[in-house]
Amino acid sequence: MFRLDALRVTHFLPSLFLLLAGLAAAYVRDLSVFFTSLFNVLPTLVLLLGGAYCAVYRRQRELFLMVTVYIAYFLLDTQTDFYRDNGHVRADAAVIFHLVCLLLPALFGLYGAWQERTHLLQDLVARFAVLFAVASVAVALEQSYPDALLAWLAEIRWPALHGQWMSLIQMVYPLFLGVFILLVVQYLRAPRPLHAAQVIGLIGLFWMLPQTFILPFTLNIMCSQVMLMIAAAVAHEAYQMAFRDELTGLPGRRALNERMQRLGRNYVIAMTDVDHFKKFNDTHGHDVGDQVLRLVASRLSKVTGGGRAYRYGGEEFALVFAGKSAEECVPHVEAVRGVIANYAMQLRDQNSRPQDDSTGRQRRAGSGAGTVSVTISIGVAERQADHRNPEAVLKSADQALYSAKEAGRNCVMVHGQQSQRGAVRMA
Ligand code: GH3
Ligand code: MG
Ligand code: MG
Repeated sequence: MFRLDALRVTHFLPSLFLLLAGLAAAYVRDLSVFFTSLFNVLPTLVLLLGGAYCAVYRRQRELFLMVTVYIAYFLLDTQTDFYRDNGHVRADAAVIFHLVCLLLPALFGLYGAWQERTHLLQDLVARFAVLFAVASVAVALEQSYPDALLAWLAEIRWPALHGQWMSLIQMVYPLFLGVFILLVVQYLRAPRPLHAAQVIGLIGLFWMLPQTFILPFTLNIMCSQVMLMIAAAVAHEAYQMAFRDELTGLPGRRALNERMQRLGRNYVIAMTDVDHFKKFNDTHGHDVGDQVLRLVASRLSKVTGGGRAYRYGGEEFALVFAGKSAEECVPHVEAVRGVIANYAMQLRDQNSRPQDDSTGRQRRAGSGAGTVSVTISIGVAERQADHRNPEAVLKSADQALYSAKEAGRNCVMVHGQQSQRGAVRMA
């Protein structure tokens, strides 16, 4: 169902920024020649670059979203150019405008919610077939029965629901609302940058349509911005794929490597490893193992003292504290170890309840069947004169982790302080 914990403001920020920039640009009255020329080519430029980008990443859903927006732009731009040059609208302006107002949100919603499932080529053909069918029907109706079509489109079907503020045909409003709800639900079910961009993009289009003939370049600007939102979301997701770990949502090994290049003179790295995790997997199954990894990751990500958690690989996580000494970090690391050890996790899948009793330090908490708990061991190392580079510090943290395992697990060890481990070790 809804994954409320995965909602992120950052999913919306690039699109919101583009939307606001578009709104601001559309309200600028006297544009220089440079900007008028730019806005004339911008939508085509964005489609070509963004489309090529989507094609390279094999993102046909986004490609078709862009093409839909571009077709709407092209049809309306022909009309606004005519209006600008002649001072009056073309004979077919009304019917084309109303058709675009209706088909743009409909196709945007359809392509936006249409997940890529089948074979790449089949998917592409299916999407193209829908576009072709819709366009053919629209063109055929517009050519054969322009007056009847216009009358049908412009008819006020629900007088009670009609507001004075409505400057588009009535049918468009429930349609936009329906598509908006669809895209919001899609975002709530799968919170991804692309799904966020679609919601904001739809708002941009909804704002744009009534302004088409009123504010010059609204069309060019907003269509470009919406296509850019889609392209930016593809880039955002590509970045996430590279730097985020999918299972836990934490930044992954690559992000840690990046971070390690930018650490200052003082920092601490703590390596953590789940105790007896192999046996845990064997006893409860891989799915429960995954749940535990998510839980551990979520607790580690909340570590205090300015630490940042990364999934190093498997059941190993790294905590990085910039500008800190080992002494300053140990209480925070110790606290997070305690939180994890004391947490009784409810198993979601009741069929995979523990079948035997505790293995090593995993145990059922109290008498509640279907709850398990895990412990972690932590090795801490700080940057020192004899190991200056982050890789060496990480290696030392790993050695300390090994000592923590040797010392009986569920404890924190600081590199080079094994002799005082009683002070730190709190198994
Ligand atoms: P120790 O206390 O010495 O760390 O024992 P351990 O069993 O945790 O150590 P080991 O490194 O041998 O086991 C790691 C296990 O973690 C092996 C693998 O089954 C499991 N594992 C690694 N990645 C994942 C994952 O993504 N999901 C699940 N469910 N298990 C994983
Ligand atoms: Mg391990
Ligand atoms: Mg382990």
